[in-house]
Amino acid sequence: PPQINEDFERVVAWADEVRRLGVRANADNFEDATKARELGAEGIGLCRTEHMFMAADRLPAVRRMILADNQAQRAEALAEILPMQQSDFEGVFTAMKGLPVTVRLLDPPLHEFLPNLVEQSLLVQRLETAGNDGAELADARETLSQVKRLHEQNPMLGTRGCRLAMLYPEIPEMQTRAIVRAALAVLDREGETVKVEIMIPLVALTQELSAQRAIVEKTVADELAQAGRELDYTIGTMIELPRAALLADQIAEHADFFSFGTNDLTQTTIGISRDDAENGFLTNYIMDHVLERNPFETIDVDGVGQLVQMGVDKGRSTKPGLKTGVCGEHGGDPDSVEFFNSVGLDYVSCSPFRVPIARFAAAKAVLNQK
Ligand code: PEP
Ligand code: MG
Repeated sequence: PPQINEDFERVVAWADEVRRLGVRANADNFEDATKARELGAEGIGLCRTEHMFMAADRLPAVRRMILADNQAQRAEALAEILPMQQSDFEGVFTAMKGLPVTVRLLDPPLHEFLPNLVEQSLLVQRLETAGNDGAELADARETLSQVKRLHEQNPMLGTRGCRLAMLYPEIPEMQTRAIVRAALAVLDREGETVKVEIMIPLVALTQELSAQRAIVEKTVADELAQAGRELDYTIGTMIELPRAALLADQIAEHADFFSFGTNDLTQTTIGISRDDAENGFLTNYIMDHVLERNPFETIDVDGVGQLVQMGVDKGRSTKPGLKTGVCGEHGGDPDSVEFFNSVGLDYVSCSPFRVPIARFAAAKAVLNQK
């Protein structure tokens, strides 16, 4: 990571005077958010919440929530997770000292929360060794059948993004409560304003966004009424599926901001798996035969770029001045940053250690335009 010293500060300060694009960072804990701010991030453009659910001390409760077969069980598991979520958000809000923080609601690749193959084979073993223990037999059988019911052949095209939240509205409710409680706690403790932007992931249909927006709005209103407090916040959406870009004018009616998720937009537009691309075969094929660049590193301007441009233009045709940013990996790639500058995005968001690169790239983009 770049070292912060006086010379470095002077040169990036010069870049900051020239650039038009805002530069934010993707971070989801106190340490990364602090690093991001030290490197000049003007906010968090993407706080992914799914990582928070993967910690060893939480996974059991998360699994109970997902595998629950009734509302009471789910509510119990969610109640256990809520204070942990609240403390996650308190960390990020505290680190950002009043700068905007975009918190994205749970975007699960569901399979990552489910028992893996080894654990599943242990379940089968439990079944085989349960003998005459009826309760043990029933429990192991039930768990295994639920895991099988939730198994997906293509998890990246499965119950991801807001889809789980559509099925179980208690999940976005719990997360929204945690966000509001954390924001109020940090306001009280640090005396800093907290600027929260709540973001709905992987929206394909306008109805998904309007339904999720209604849940968030109602939950925030309930929490604030109970606390007798006020909080400034906005609700926006990821644009990371071609359908969302194509219908961006309708989607904008329900969004205060757009954030382009170019990782998924690249995956779904070109039709190559982002997970497998890292293994080389697909990427080499695309680089050697088609694009000459890795489209997950540098944006495919001709294809994916057109959808970004369309999303910005259509969104702003409904809401002039609609705030737009990008939070895919491309947000820290200089050539991609130049493209985002040209389509009129308001900010890019990238990993903390790439923030200085993005600040330079955003300045270079302006100079190249002249
Ligand atoms: C994206 O798809 O570009 C994005 C930022 O979301 P994630 O990488 O978490 O899917
Ligand atoms: Mg995504």
